[in-house]
Amino acid sequence: MSPFFSSFINKLYGQPRGEAGAIYLFNTLTRQKETFVPLRRGHVGMYHCGPTVYNFAHIGNLRAYVFADLLKRLFLYEGYEVKQIINITDVGHLTDDADQGEDKIEEGAKREGKSAKEIAEKFTAAFMEDIAMMNVNTERTIFPKATEHVTEQIALVKTLEEKGYAYQTSDGVYFDSSLFKKYGVLGDINIKGLAEGARVEKNPERKHPTDFALWKFSPKENSGLGKRQQEWPSPWGLGFPGWHIECSAMSMKYLGKTFDIHTGGVDHIPVHHNNEIAQSESVTGRQFVRYWLHNEHLKMEGRKISKSLGNTIYLKNIVERRFTPLALRYLFLSSSYRAPLNFTWESLEGAQNALFKAHRHFVEELGTKNGKIIPRYKELFAGALRNDLDSPKALAVMWELIKDNKAGRPDKRVTILDFDKALGLGFLESNKELLAMNRKKIKTEELPAEVKKLLEERERARRDKDFKTADLIRAKISASGFELEDTPAGPKIYSSAR
Ligand code: AMP
Ligand code: ZN
Repeated sequence: MSPFFSSFINKLYGQPRGEAGAIYLFNTLTRQKETFVPLRRGHVGMYHCGPTVYNFAHIGNLRAYVFADLLKRLFLYEGYEVKQIINITDVGHLTDDADQGEDKIEEGAKREGKSAKEIAEKFTAAFMEDIAMMNVNTERTIFPKATEHVTEQIALVKTLEEKGYAYQTSDGVYFDSSLFKKYGVLGDINIKGLAEGARVEKNPERKHPTDFALWKFSPKENSGLGKRQQEWPSPWGLGFPGWHIECSAMSMKYLGKTFDIHTGGVDHIPVHHNNEIAQSESVTGRQFVRYWLHNEHLKMEGRKISKSLGNTIYLKNIVERRFTPLALRYLFLSSSYRAPLNFTWESLEGAQNALFKAHRHFVEELGTKNGKIIPRYKELFAGALRNDLDSPKALAVMWELIKDNKAGRPDKRVTILDFDKALGLGFLESNKELLAMNRKKIKTEELPAEVKKLLEERERARRDKDFKTADLIRAKISASGFELEDTPAGPKIYSSAR
């Protein structure tokens, strides 16, 4: 279906109508769900605003990358060739969004008494570890660094200057937002608020409240601000790139002047993404991104999780409390990426229980033989994800399948494994590593008397090859908080996860 026709259909019905196999995505640009039409048939290019590597990513940030991962997995599941870019912001993101304040990386370097490069490397490595633990599929994903693309950023600023979109102030080169007619197309900008707020006062040389820095000058030697660690020569003097220009430079370098999908958290809509559109389209004269997708925030007690509010939780805190990172992934998937999600330890516990229940079913009930994917379930499952990544519905379909006693075990097994390509909930590895993370080995002598008795009864049943009774007893033992793993030398016993 042509984009024009699909937009016509959307307008007519408010919702896209069922084209078999079509993917529907909510586009912030048009504020409606649209049929996804790739630029190149069977291919999709997507760019995700990456982490600012001055500290660990908090679990709110991780929600953004699990969302990006689900999107990638859906396209792979649907047979697309995926090109995915997640940038690493290792320069230029300032503590104050009015293009003032300190560079977060330089601030992190001071905090830890390390060089800017060391800080960026340390937290890039931590980020890669975190997303690996969240089972984010990084195969063939490109992670370009802003510091390695300064030449490309300078080239964009030069073009903007040549085309008359840029002007210089005493502290940098700025984009004149009044010259880009569509400025603010993504919405959410409170121009009046910006004009009244601190932004203009802090930078009186700025012509309009929505103008933003493309290039910032290093502080003058006698300014008392100290020398920057990361700075580059440019046609305008020694300095560093603005934060927004890096995303335009890296996305267009790897995906072309116009590409399919750009994502980020909703906090990026008003400033960062409106600015990316303005500067990119002013350079190329073409549409920058066709589908803008934004994830809602992860909250704590109703407030956005953010470093500045001091209510951050990191993945390591989750692991310290003996949760598996995949429980957090399950929690994220159990709500739509477009709905705000309130984090509580209880909800994480509920997610972990559900995940382990599904894993246990897979490991203990479904054997090791693979049958055939059950088409009815696959259709429901894929249909849910194709409908703007309705992961809660996809999980519900998975549970319906788990509870379906009529479905053959090998068919069930292979269907769940097929779903897991999109969900990434670690079913294949669930047997060993995952359960082991949260279990403590127990000696038979340490067991309560009644559980010891159950264990003996189960061993007897197993010897008599009465596996039905053995399974029933296992369930009773499990309900008492202990797990069994059968080995040739007899059962190993673990205290249950949490
Ligand atoms: P940053 O490192 O601050 O640039 O953020 C990385 C990504 O996380 C961006 O896409 C943000 O929009 C997103 N993000 C930040 N805070 C949250 C939150 N509490 N919930 C969901 N996404 C968030
Ligand atoms: Zn960005």
